[in-house]
Amino acid sequence: MKPIDYQQPSKLRIFTAFYRPHARLFALDMGCATAIALIDLVFPLASRYALNNLLPNSIYSTFFVLMGSLLAMYLLRGVLNYIVTYWGHTLGVRMEANMRRDLFSHLQSLPFTFYDKHRTGQLMSRVTTDLFEITELAHHGPEDLFLSIITLVGSFAVLFTIHWQLALVLLCLVPLALLFTISQRRRMSGSSRKVKERMAAINADIESAISGARVAKAFTNEDYEIERFAVGNEQFKTAKGGFYSSMALFHSGIELMANVFNVLVVAVGGWFMMRGSMDINDLVVFILYVSTFLSPIRRLTAFVEQYATGMAGFSRFLELMRIQPDITDTSDATTLSAVQGRIDFNDVTFAYDESQNVLEHLSLHVEPGKMLALVGPSGAGKTTLCHLIPRFYDSTSGTITIDGHDIRGVTLRSLRQNVGIVSQEVFLFAGTVRENIAYGRVDATESEIVDAAKRAEIYESILEMPDGLDTYVGERGMRLSGGQKQRIAIARIFLKNPPILLLDEATSALDTVTERRIQASFDQLAKGRTTFVIAHRLSTVERADEIIYIDKQGIRERGTHQQLMAADGLYAALQRSHPAEKENDA
Ligand code: ADP
Repeated sequence: MKPIDYQQPSKLRIFTAFYRPHARLFALDMGCATAIALIDLVFPLASRYALNNLLPNSIYSTFFVLMGSLLAMYLLRGVLNYIVTYWGHTLGVRMEANMRRDLFSHLQSLPFTFYDKHRTGQLMSRVTTDLFEITELAHHGPEDLFLSIITLVGSFAVLFTIHWQLALVLLCLVPLALLFTISQRRRMSGSSRKVKERMAAINADIESAISGARVAKAFTNEDYEIERFAVGNEQFKTAKGGFYSSMALFHSGIELMANVFNVLVVAVGGWFMMRGSMDINDLVVFILYVSTFLSPIRRLTAFVEQYATGMAGFSRFLELMRIQPDITDTSDATTLSAVQGRIDFNDVTFAYDESQNVLEHLSLHVEPGKMLALVGPSGAGKTTLCHLIPRFYDSTSGTITIDGHDIRGVTLRSLRQNVGIVSQEVFLFAGTVRENIAYGRVDATESEIVDAAKRAEIYESILEMPDGLDTYVGERGMRLSGGQKQRIAIARIFLKNPPILLLDEATSALDTVTERRIQASFDQLAKGRTTFVIAHRLSTVERADEIIYIDKQGIRERGTHQQLMAADGLYAALQRSHPAEKENDA
């Protein structure tokens, strides 16, 4: 199946494209629905025939055959209805699942900048609840629209043959009903969209409050959290109230119209009877048809409602799908392979937003297998600098090359496969220790996982855990200590085995034993790899081949530890201000 073009302007076209893979199911659904509509049209006609021709002439045998056939038709209608309900909804669910699949893989393709701007809970809402009503719309939408048209046209065709004057009176009322319906659709779409936005905001609040529940307790700020949540909840209530108000107006309007239709038919029909141009049987048939074609109007009503809520969800879905990742492979991107590990920053400038450059005209060169330590005050741009190498962000100007290849000219996949990252805050997925280590290379064998764990100095601790490698780490690794998490992150990188390494040393104080073990595994890991390390410890900088001191004004000093200490500049001052760390490492 060819992928859907989300950039085309027509929302409806994109929506209908989701029917394409399920064309047969759709045809079955619509076929059965049409048969149902035709059966509904037959009943008043058959009644009229019985009233006019069979009963007055006492042709009872034919009358009962006719009634028997009607019964059979209604049996068939029951079966058709089952098919429409079951398979129609199945069609809708399949379409919804396809949308969700597309959205999920799209989210995976979006860059860091996107995740910097969007709240987790809101995104969750978009992948889950926003798409819920799509099933209903996808299935009932075309069916309701199509059926209403068939029944309306069919009923009028019959009514005109019976008594065209009365039919004409009725026909004049239909545009009124349609006009009302269409005008209400807008209102309802708007309010439904607001409801979805508020729901997403609530989800975001809940997500944030639940992940921060421990912090809230530590600060005894539970009441503050409750109050904050109440604001969002109140806004949701107002939005939903707005939606129900437009829905109530719409339903009452439609009901009113239906009743006016009924009264009008009887009144005008009575008037025609008084004038002698209509008989009682025809009037009965008219009344029967009015109820037949009120059902398409009700269907239209349902359609309008579904369209409003379903399309609001679909629009929000489209909004996300239309965001194009700004960091992608160029059409002629090559695969980065057999990496030696020489890294060059050539006159690199970078800004998160236009207002302020974080890095300005920065150049540096690191030979394969060497270790570069980045030191300097927090907020200087050390993490940012590291994040440019795997293209989490793209530099505003200047180039970064690996072995002389511009990183923008190689595929993202091959680039990132060659870079390993251990950040300060290790993220573990809810699952077992084994799964979390294997995340470094999902096809790793058991012995490779054990080997990686040993090299990361975590294997012994794992053996002490209740279920060994199968121990559940809790959400985000909550059940493990900081040191254990770090070492699992290191084990991942051993499995991945990339030639380039980015390390962000933990600033938080770990006990000396843990500290040493992590240091030992860092050293193991860095062997033979080009390493950028955001260093906080003396032991690390002493080992580095080059140290770069960076602050808001850019690179201020560079050299080895001895050279920089001898120069007695900013770096030396920084080292002198951390006597505790020196003791720690002694
Ligand atoms: P360091 O690692 O040296 O502490 P960072 O690279 O984390 O510094 O941050 C450098 C600057 O960029 C800081 O002013 C910080 O506020 C800003 N910054 C960091 N990450 C982002 C982001 N995702 N979006 C916008 N600004 C950011």
